[in-house]
Amino acid sequence: MSVDPTRMCELLVGLPDVNVLAVTDTEQLVRVMVETRQPRPVCTGCGGPVTAKDRADVEHADLPSFGRRAVLVWRKRRWGCPSRCGAASFTEIAPAIAGPRQRLTDRAGRWATIQVGRRGRPVSDVAGELGASWDAVMDAVVAYGQVLVDDPARFADVEALGLDETLQCKIGCWRRQVWSTQIVDVGRGQLLDVVEGRNATGPAEWLDDQSEQWRANIAWGALDLSGPYRKVFDTMLPDAVQVADPFHVHNIAQQRLDECRRRVQNDTLGHRGRKDDPLYRCRRLLSRADDRLDESGRTKLLGLLAAGDPKGEVKTMWHVKEVVRSIYEHRDQDLALGFVDRLGHDLQDTDLPIEANQLGRTLLRWKHQICAWHASGVSNGPTEAVNNLVKRVKRVAFGIVNHRNYRIRAVLYAGKPNWDLLNTINPAQS
Ligand SMILES: [Zn+2]
Repeated sequence: MSVDPTRMCELLVGLPDVNVLAVTDTEQLVRVMVETRQPRPVCTGCGGPVTAKDRADVEHADLPSFGRRAVLVWRKRRWGCPSRCGAASFTEIAPAIAGPRQRLTDRAGRWATIQVGRRGRPVSDVAGELGASWDAVMDAVVAYGQVLVDDPARFADVEALGLDETLQCKIGCWRRQVWSTQIVDVGRGQLLDVVEGRNATGPAEWLDDQSEQWRANIAWGALDLSGPYRKVFDTMLPDAVQVADPFHVHNIAQQRLDECRRRVQNDTLGHRGRKDDPLYRCRRLLSRADDRLDESGRTKLLGLLAAGDPKGEVKTMWHVKEVVRSIYEHRDQDLALGFVDRLGHDLQDTDLPIEANQLGRTLLRWKHQICAWHASGVSNGPTEAVNNLVKRVKRVAFGIVNHRNYRIRAVLYAGKPNWDLLNTINPAQS
């Protein structure tokens, strides 16, 4: 049996319609030089035959081969029109080898998109594995991922829509914070999209882009206790019942407690918390729920408060926080509403710390959203699932300055794209 070595080589390279011109290798790297076997194209201007002008060797990072990094060198033809019809010369195109302007081969680009998008791996890891630059890998993820992200069938009707602010990154020497808003299907735990900023504009425009029918199906709007998102729901989804996530309600009570602790610390000792100050030492115990404190933790906390909190203000705020937590022990919405209303007014008492007064006003301003949780289908399960998902996305994507890149990575990772599409699509032209 005779074996044609050239044919064997082409089989190993595994690309359709290419001639393998040369293979060179070192211990770490295999370089394969190919040219296409495709028929000569016609002139885009006059339709006549074109002539070869010159060739350019273009390098593409490929999938590792037999344990070594691989580089595909594509000897690209440039074509020109001999009849001087005015058409510019052009370079040959072969998407099966590599998409236009891509620095990874087509198959390496699809693989990189799965690694970064579906598995949430850092771009730098994937780039290292391929021996490609960070930009080359990110360009591929954008080119292949964009179509999956923008697939109109990616998400269906949504019953409970959530808005959640996310710190995307800090840039420059002033650590300027860049925020974005995650738009989430709370019921399915799916990231629908990511828009720039944490004001009302981005989410409102996004909702405006959806169909009226789609908006009409949204029965619940889940939000934190912030004005901008409330405005989005008020104006764009006036019929959706607004629900405050218990997580955010607990957070607000905890924040007021922390503020009170820092204020009393400063009033009594005249400086910010240091490691031996009693109020500084109890800050972690204060952030724990009462039922998660054991007897010794409780004793320690009360001791530290007795030492550092002469007027008992921090202790009061600690109790207030626990009372806010108990809002969710009420199962009946009307009883909960009565409870929150009374609590909000009681907290206005001028004998209480000013942080309690503030918290009382917040509770009154949001009492309907807080108590709507009791009647909503937005129960604990999905909310927690979404919070976990959102946290995972933040971990994966934090530090990405470029919004387009952030959006594509976050949605590929948490937006449930149809990965079956990846094999059928051509990369988007950027
Ligand atoms: Zn021509």
